[in-house]
Amino acid sequence: MPFKVGIIGAGWYGCHLASSLLSLGFEVTVFERRLRVLDEASGHNQFRLHLGFHYARHHGTRQQSRDGFLRFIERYPDLSAPVPTNIYAVPRNESLIDFHTYKMIMASSGIDFAEYNDNAEWLHDIDGAVLTAERVLMISRARHFFSKRLENVLRLGEEVTCISYNGRNASVNGECFDYIIDASWGKFSKGAADTFFEPTLLLYYEASADAPAVTLVDGPLSSVYPTEDPHIFTLSSVTHTPLGNFLDVRSAEKALDQVTSALVNEKRELMELQILKNVPRFGDVFRFAGAQLSMKTKLNGRADDRSCYVNQTERLFSVMSGKIDTVFHATERILSMIEAEHSQPYVETANRLRDDILMPEFDK
Ligand SMILES: Cc1cc2nc3c(=O)[nH]c(=O)nc-3n(C[C@H](O)[C@H](O)[C@H](O)COP(=O)(O)OP(=O)(O)OC[C@H]3O[C@@H](n4cnc5c(N)ncnc54)[C@H](O)[C@@H]3O)c2cc1C
Repeated sequence: MPFKVGIIGAGWYGCHLASSLLSLGFEVTVFERRLRVLDEASGHNQFRLHLGFHYARHHGTRQQSRDGFLRFIERYPDLSAPVPTNIYAVPRNESLIDFHTYKMIMASSGIDFAEYNDNAEWLHDIDGAVLTAERVLMISRARHFFSKRLENVLRLGEEVTCISYNGRNASVNGECFDYIIDASWGKFSKGAADTFFEPTLLLYYEASADAPAVTLVDGPLSSVYPTEDPHIFTLSSVTHTPLGNFLDVRSAEKALDQVTSALVNEKRELMELQILKNVPRFGDVFRFAGAQLSMKTKLNGRADDRSCYVNQTERLFSVMSGKIDTVFHATERILSMIEAEHSQPYVETANRLRDDILMPEFDK
């Protein structure tokens, strides 16, 4: 039976869920308050198709990323591209774990890498480094792909202001559905998740196309990563990218509105100093191009966890997104919960196991 599903949000999660459910014959409507798809966090991030290298301290996130990476390439073959030189480096003094432990964690999680010994050209004060096959997301292609794929079901510029669900009924802005999926990353409603909001600042730089991607792990460190344009890179810092944390989304949005160029310059200085410690050629190769504001939703008290979770309350599924390549987990959880609800009821049956066991006739 094809169900009618209303989805709140056209970020990566809303778009992927809508696309998957359409393929299965569901009737889908996507409500998006913005005027284009992937216009909040999904379009304003570091565009890394994760493989698990970022998550030495969270096994579940590594597993979801490793599997999600393979499925992402299979499902969306044109929406990511290889990164020619993609280095993860462990600084000698500032990492929370040493290089040997880092390698052991990745190897034991089935995440492949090659050791990078050509350190001298780009890296300084490093305990060790690996080369990875992590890719970069092609954001313009993704926007084009989902705008076409969802053109008949997408309602852009339509903010969801009220939902209700009760027994077998659910409604979004007064329209009836069988199920509602809140894929707003907790911005419409927090659902059951205990979350907070973290406004963020990413810096953009122009560089020659052969500059490597360098991610310093593990802990409060920084990274420089290419985008779909091989000459444009983002600089992100675990310490300096966050602009505070807020329990309610309105206060977080207000903090973003109040960002000044003085704050951007102050953060820029700190972030450049931080990356220069381990990538001394940064200042010669990368030229500042601009800044971008965005927002993360995070789980309270679970700083290392970036896995995807789905909660169900009657007719409402609330998706707490993980990374972008963990979208598959959300689809599976939702389908599994719908299936469980509609599977055949249990009928009392006699235990007949003994009928299937033969007595061995050893004594004959
Ligand atoms: C600085 C930064 C760097 C990051 N780097 C990476 C990275 O390199 N790789 C990676 O995998 N992940 C990264 N992430 C995380 C990634 O961006 C998110 O996991 C992902 O984009 C979440 O997707 P989403 O669809 O759940 O949320 P969003 O992209 O935020 O989409 C939610 C959508 O819901 C809409 N919406 C909200 N409320 C309503 C309403 N009431 N009515 C209608 N529409 C509504 C919004 O307009 C929005 O379009 C990064 C995030 C940030 C902020």
